[in-house]
Amino acid sequence: MSDVNRQWIFTRAPDGAVTPDIFERREAPVPDVGPGEVLVRTRLLSLDPANRAWMRGRTYREQVMPGDVMHGFTIGEVVASNASGFEAGDLVEGMNGWQDYASVKPGSLTKRDAGRDPLHMIGVLSITGLTAYHGLFDIGRPVPGDTVLVSAAAGAVGTIVGQLARLAGCRTVGIAGGADKCDWLVRELGFDAAVDYKAADFRKSLRAACPSGVDIYFDNVGGQILDAALAAMKIGGRVVCCGAVANYDVGTVPYSSPALPGVLVAKRLRMEGFIVLDYAARRAEAEQRLAGWVESGAVRAIVDVVDGLEQAPAALVRLLDGGNRGKMAVRIS
Ligand code: NDP
Repeated sequence: MSDVNRQWIFTRAPDGAVTPDIFERREAPVPDVGPGEVLVRTRLLSLDPANRAWMRGRTYREQVMPGDVMHGFTIGEVVASNASGFEAGDLVEGMNGWQDYASVKPGSLTKRDAGRDPLHMIGVLSITGLTAYHGLFDIGRPVPGDTVLVSAAAGAVGTIVGQLARLAGCRTVGIAGGADKCDWLVRELGFDAAVDYKAADFRKSLRAACPSGVDIYFDNVGGQILDAALAAMKIGGRVVCCGAVANYDVGTVPYSSPALPGVLVAKRLRMEGFIVLDYAARRAEAEQRLAGWVESGAVRAIVDVVDGLEQAPAALVRLLDGGNRGKMAVRIS
């Protein structure tokens, strides 16, 4: 075990897109394990578009403030414990941030099954997979034959939503940035069609990919893509509001749909947001089903792993710029 705790400190909210220089690298001593605390060494750090949203103000959780160790979801290994129920070697998930070590109260940790692949623990069997699962099944409520459209389809949540919708007997259409990503979604992940939102003919291609309209739109993006999806919805369709990544990495929110709320009335749409944490009580059920699909090969868990804590700022910039495929994570130890 090292005696140095490398940390990335958040120094200031960016005016526009995140740049690596808003983070400052520091070395601190490894914290002592306080009474009733658990010392955890970070193994994997999750990078999420929400990291950027947390810099903008209060969301469903606290804002990240200048001087904080950058907040982040982690999978780690217990190296010492003064808390009952935790011992050295346990694998735990928590919000331990962009650093090697954290000494925390056990209430902030969830023990994980050491038999599982840690790369699954940070993606498909955690926030990413659970978000796709509850958003699709509990909010979208698919029935066989539905057309399910998902944006940020080549990303962490989107790749899982598309595959779960296919398992539910639906026609799946992805929206992603660039022809390569769209080809990949169809070729490798079994989407029925994929549409490049960066192409000039995006709206026309979207209509062509959903000839009889959209029953469920799983919205990860908001903005103009939401607007185009609303225009493609069938009467009685459902819009699952999962996130709004188009509005995160910008100075001021660039666009809000002029179609709302009129289109909800005219098409009798249900538009509903959710936060995955609301479904914590059903985690065992969801995780077991997701693990079963991954083990049988019915769902592919795509992970984009970057090696080294020092890479975290550049990796966050890449994620927000669409450089990832599947779940982006940093391997730390
Ligand atoms: P992703 O892996 O999908 O990464 C983000 C992707 O967003 C990028 O790869 C990029 O892909 C796309 N993107 C970035 N900027 C834009 C833009 N301006 N317009 C369109 N697409 C853009 O991240 P996640 O899967 O982790 O998250 C997806 C969404 O789910 C986010 O909105 C996130 O906040 C939300 N979320 C919600 C939760 C909840 O409880 N409600 C929990 C977890 C996540 P491309 O190349 O296609 O542009």
